[in-house]
Amino acid sequence: MFFAIGLLLITHLVFPVAGLVWLWRGNELSKLEWLLKLSIVLLYGIQIFLIGRWDFLSYFLRFGVIALLVVAVYISFIKAKSLPFYPTRKLSNYVSVGISSLVILVLLSSLSSHIPRGYSFNGESVQLNFPLQQGTYYVAHGGNSPAINYHNVNPTQQYALDIVKLNAVGTRANGLYPRSLTNYAIWGEPLYSPCDGIIRETRNNLPDLIPPQSDPPNPAGNHILIQCQGADVLMAHLQRGSLVVQDGETVEAGQAIAKVGNSGNTTEPHLHIHARRANTGQSPLEGEGLPITFDGRFLVRNSLFVDKTNFGNSNVPS
Ligand SMILES: [Zn+2]
Repeated sequence: MFFAIGLLLITHLVFPVAGLVWLWRGNELSKLEWLLKLSIVLLYGIQIFLIGRWDFLSYFLRFGVIALLVVAVYISFIKAKSLPFYPTRKLSNYVSVGISSLVILVLLSSLSSHIPRGYSFNGESVQLNFPLQQGTYYVAHGGNSPAINYHNVNPTQQYALDIVKLNAVGTRANGLYPRSLTNYAIWGEPLYSPCDGIIRETRNNLPDLIPPQSDPPNPAGNHILIQCQGADVLMAHLQRGSLVVQDGETVEAGQAIAKVGNSGNTTEPHLHIHARRANTGQSPLEGEGLPITFDGRFLVRNSLFVDKTNFGNSNVPS
């Protein structure tokens, strides 16, 4: 996890700033070199804007990177305006053009591997109400491509989502990776039934873990499986002792059923939710995965769900 955070700082902060400086201080001798350089910086910027995890540093910074790119493009364009289009016939110029073109190809193929696939789904979706209220929720993993959803390689969890809550500064926690559970905005948030259905399975007695501890033998942790619309909907990693529903009980959409916790195979407090075709697996983690839409939206990484009932109140609930 700490390695992952280091990598996150490099890819979300160091690389965009370095690209900016690289463009800004450009000493290109032709417009062609400038255009290639510009393409690399822009393609990287678009990539990190789309597939980056902006809940660690701040969701607002995501747009700050785009704003800085626009400024750098403008300033470097002023400098490049007076240059000839083609570089002089020198071997080193051709080598640099060749290397730049190669980097552009790599970035383009990486982008095309998850656009548009990651943002669309096949077949009918299970239509759910969003199961959390009062605040701004952020999709950390979601969508139909491994680039934006690590669950996507698993057929049952192909369309699974991991959801966190953002605080007033646009991050999911106070600090990069705090140990205290109460520092995570989503910890203890009430969970509401996403549909009218019947409770098919529950677990309520597993401990909430201190990050980065996890419990791989009990992957879903405390959880609720609700059957509705021909699907089984799993909500996992719930708070110990927070479930207020039992197996066989009928629930209505919007009814409070539990609280978000940090039990099971988890790295930090969040809500995991996925749907499978009803009764297609032994355990809730087996079966045929189905796409989910929330209030008609197919949510992907970096999607926000804002509930204005109590908008602006980002206090950690008691
Ligand atoms: Zn998950």
